[in-house]
Amino acid sequence: MYQPRNTGGIYFCDGCRIHLDPGPGALVNMARLSIDPSKTDAVLISHCHPDHYSDAEVLIEGMARGGFRKRGVLVGSNSVIQGYGNFGPAISDYHVGLPERVVAMAKGSSISLVQMKIEATPTAHSDPTGIGFKLHTSNGTISYVGDSELNPEVTEAHRQSRVLIICLTRPISSRIPYHMCTEDASVLVKKVSPEAAVLTHFGMKLLHEGAEKQARYVEERSGIRTVAATDLMTLTLGKVIRVHRRCDMN
Ligand SMILES: [Zn+2]
Repeated sequence: MYQPRNTGGIYFCDGCRIHLDPGPGALVNMARLSIDPSKTDAVLISHCHPDHYSDAEVLIEGMARGGFRKRGVLVGSNSVIQGYGNFGPAISDYHVGLPERVVAMAKGSSISLVQMKIEATPTAHSDPTGIGFKLHTSNGTISYVGDSELNPEVTEAHRQSRVLIICLTRPISSRIPYHMCTEDASVLVKKVSPEAAVLTHFGMKLLHEGAEKQARYVEERSGIRTVAATDLMTLTLGKVIRVHRRCDMN
């Protein structure tokens, strides 16, 4: 809410351009990076909380060239696309009508996007239909846990990932329901055993304690390289995993 860090989601390029969880500021930051919203091929939304979907309708208009062309793919949880209980839908009927393809995904389902297979993974969050994603890229699998607390089902779903991206809301000794704390993250990283873990989606208390401190804790406990994300950070997945931080960012 206070934007000590940006909430614009994660942008993937691998034969197609995917914008995952475009929260507040996604469009503003695309402009800063000179990324053209109309080149987006797919928008993925993990669950029906505005820090994950607020800029999605504008992006959908971008994909569909202002609504003049039926284009692009919209993927979301059931709550995002159809609504579930008190949650959603997050996208208006008008905007659901703009993409070429709209898919409501539940845990365990998968779709193909150009040459990439995308799986929906389980979460344990306040939106009961919330999902995470496993992206099978041309250079191996990137897993996005989404907003979730830790349980064995979540752990199992993210095995065999090269990069594990964790929404880490709470710091050490501060566990709350439906979210991941640093101790949970260290257990998850150790069990999944990726080549690298990326921590993001930091809450205010965590930022006060220090995001780097959480990354060092996870790295020491798991033995896995762990990166605390910074705004507009880039990660390149090749034979080796390279992280590039912008020096003007936190
Ligand atoms: Zn959430």
